[in-house]
Amino acid sequence: MDKEQLKKIFDNPDFIPGIHNYCDRWCERCPMTSRCGSYALEQEHFSGTKDKDIENKEFWDKLGDLFSTTIELLLEMIEERSIDLSDIEPSPEEREKIKEASKENECVKMAKKYYKNVDAWFEESKAVLEQKENILKQQLEMQLPKSDPVSESAGIKDVIDVIMWHHYQIYVKLRRAVTGKLEGVPEIIADMPKDYDGSAKVALVGIDRSIAAWGAMLQHFPEKENSILDILVLLEKLRKQTEAFFPDARAFVRPGFDD
Ligand code: SF4
Repeated sequence: MDKEQLKKIFDNPDFIPGIHNYCDRWCERCPMTSRCGSYALEQEHFSGTKDKDIENKEFWDKLGDLFSTTIELLLEMIEERSIDLSDIEPSPEEREKIKEASKENECVKMAKKYYKNVDAWFEESKAVLEQKENILKQQLEMQLPKSDPVSESAGIKDVIDVIMWHHYQIYVKLRRAVTGKLEGVPEIIADMPKDYDGSAKVALVGIDRSIAAWGAMLQHFPEKENSILDILVLLEKLRKQTEAFFPDARAFVRPGFDD
């Protein structure tokens, strides 16, 4: 792909500028694929790549090619708009300090605890999950009236997908948001919506969805009530802590999703 092809995608009026910056990257479940330039770019550039295998040489060659084209285009835009990168970028020492400070932030610490607890929960619940699978298989074989094992099984898979998609992403987004807030914003854009609020909003949406998904897990696995409630309490604390640290995040308008 050359620079002109890349520009054509950026300039297509069907695509909502910046939509991919504040989404959850779950393209398979996204209702906005037809309005997303990043998705179109990926489809156009990577479709036909054998088995989408990320270790495939062709994939990495194309990615390297796209990286060079993007950098070329970016440098052109920086020059056109006379952007001074040294104005925006903190020094390496400042960046290191901010990185350390962000690790100690309560939102980040809680989000880390959450993803670790989720991994531990699924590890320790393997037997219960297997047992449930066997019960549903038996119900299917026996074709019991008033039972719908197919949709129950699909429902469980759906909520587990939601939990697993978001559990680590919440931490990543909050780490990014906290770092951005600690770095501060240049005065010239102080009145504009903050990128860190956008990242915090993506984390909050992930937290809300995860709370709903764990609520559904509680119905499917009542025998795990105590451990699921522990996770829900942690998520609720994380939600409140995030809203307190980023008071404007809920109001952040994500292009394409909130407008
Ligand atoms: S906006 Fe939707 S299609 Fe585009 S990158 Fe995000 S999840 Fe994928």
